Amino acid sequence: MSIESILQEVFGYADFRGPQHNIIEHVSAGGDALVLMPTGGGKSLCYQIPAIARQQAGQGITVVISPLIALMHDQVGALHEAGVSAAYLNSTLSLQEASDTERRLVQGNITLLYAAPERINTLRFLAQLDSLYERGALSLFAIDEAHCVSQWGHDFRPEYRALTVLHERYPKVPRIALTATADALTRADIIERLQLQDARLFVSSFDRPNIRYTIVEKRDATQQLLRFIRDEHLGDAGIVYCQSRKRVEDIANLLCDEGIAALPYHAGLETKVRQVNQDQFLRTEGVVMVATIAFGMGIDKPDVRFVAHLDMPKNIEGYYQETGRAGRDGQAADAWMCYGLQDVVNQRRMIDESPAAEEFKQGLRGKLEALLTLAEATDCRRVRLLAYFDEESRACHNCDNCLSPPEVWDATDAARKLLSTIYRVQQTSGISFGSGHVMDILRGKTTDKVVQYGHAALSTFGIGADLSETQWRAVLRQLIAISAVAVDAQAFNTLKLTGASRAVLKGDVPVRLRVSLAASLGRKTRRNTVGAATKAPVDLNMAGQTRYAALKAWRFDVAKAHNLPAYVIFHDATLAAIAQSAPQSLADLQGISGIGARKLEAYGAAVLAVVAGHSPSPADLDADW
Ligand code: ADP
Ligand code: ZN
Repeated sequence: MSIESILQEVFGYADFRGPQHNIIEHVSAGGDALVLMPTGGGKSLCYQIPAIARQQAGQGITVVISPLIALMHDQVGALHEAGVSAAYLNSTLSLQEASDTERRLVQGNITLLYAAPERINTLRFLAQLDSLYERGALSLFAIDEAHCVSQWGHDFRPEYRALTVLHERYPKVPRIALTATADALTRADIIERLQLQDARLFVSSFDRPNIRYTIVEKRDATQQLLRFIRDEHLGDAGIVYCQSRKRVEDIANLLCDEGIAALPYHAGLETKVRQVNQDQFLRTEGVVMVATIAFGMGIDKPDVRFVAHLDMPKNIEGYYQETGRAGRDGQAADAWMCYGLQDVVNQRRMIDESPAAEEFKQGLRGKLEALLTLAEATDCRRVRLLAYFDEESRACHNCDNCLSPPEVWDATDAARKLLSTIYRVQQTSGISFGSGHVMDILRGKTTDKVVQYGHAALSTFGIGADLSETQWRAVLRQLIAISAVAVDAQAFNTLKLTGASRAVLKGDVPVRLRVSLAASLGRKTRRNTVGAATKAPVDLNMAGQTRYAALKAWRFDVAKAHNLPAYVIFHDATLAAIAQSAPQSLADLQGISGIGARKLEAYGAAVLAVVAGHSPSPADLDADW
């Protein structure tokens, strides 16, 4: 079969997306590739179609290396649904299951084998690969989530370093490495670590136009989050990222108390609980997962409508990867972040206190700075995000700053006052102070501390009374963001001047700030408040909506019987297209996006019956948990 026929007949898609065609052609022909594509861009097909094509040409099996143990079952299930022979090997299998799979492997009876990276280091597995290789039955290696090989990525897995064995031991087998993390540093590291110098590099646009970016100033974070969910996403599936395990638990409880179906996920929970919660999130509609960054890699749930960050992530790669989990189905989705001075201080401290080498810490600080600059930006967020990935773009009209341009004020003078206060207290008292005290001096407050140290006598005492504490915090955040102020974590988070302070003090560096980030809370355009649980991705008439509901109820039953998430059976968009066109025959069904030959054969008749109204009442089948 040609790669075009595989796309259409096996996966039911009419056209390749973006660079998929070139990548698949190159890899099918035996070339090595490094693929950088944003989350939701369609990376899986880039190795699945070559795997099928090469297996059909007698070249044997493809081994997919993936760190996503908890998801392998669903990934393999999705391939089975499409009629592709696939299996996985990881620590969740019983001995019996593992040896069954190994037998099929040695017989060459599999098209795609998913394996955890730890496997590659076992002599047993290598011996099995050796035997396939000797028979010319080892066709391709796909290294998914390739950024795991790099310390610069945010999911470093030491086992990935050992993957060089693949091409050292099996030099004739082509390799394709894929990742959605692609800043220059990580990219160079992947190439070096996996020895992909001769591989062809495919870089897609990293834009996710359907995601709307919003970054708000933190006031009362939990209330802000509640308002955001209630106003914009009631009933929708979403992910809320928090920094600590405790906070995850607290927020999940709070959301539940407020009637929002929320579950916690963090590394401190037992594996079993994590798996159950993840399954609920994948298999039930409208669940909000409150999680640390331990959650989410490889989650291919297409209808996540929002990703919220209640605390600031470490860097732009992390932020972009996490927010990228929203809206993989291409429908409108939100990336919402709330951040404040404390986030900045915390992140700085974590870097300062880490035992890493100074050079490495410097790299981390640079990355944090880039994120802070994004958060403080008054122009298009997307332009800045894409620029970070070396991509030029124009104002997007789908971020907070584009939709309601913030008012900006010139804070250059205020910044100078703040810096000179830090300088003066250090000069007169011989020690440094924290942000609260420095702001009290600027605002002319006669606190005990001010009296104790005689700081009311400073020339800067009270010269900033015209600005509110919120405004001073914004000035300070900005100065920390551009490294004109350092926060000394070793000394009670006291503020110190840096090499970069001088230029700002002299007035050479203009400082421009938004009047209030909170202004962007009120949206000009309000989205549907209906929630994905009830709303179809296309506009349907009444009859169409009834069909859509009936199809969803049917899908729920099938997914449950197969122990797979509903979207693995059919995407919402596919069901909506069926509901809209009300097909009468198998021929009518054919050609609807997402229905390949195997699914047509397996489900065509049932779908037609549901469309014709011969189905149980949806009420009897309603998803409930
Ligand atoms: P990634 O791994 O890059 O995040 P996936 O491979 O999971 O993305 O693909 C994202 C979604 O896009 C999936 O639901 C997939 O079925 C769909 N998709 C991929 N390629 C195509 C295509 N050519 N046409 C239509 N849908 C596609
Ligand atoms: Zn924009």
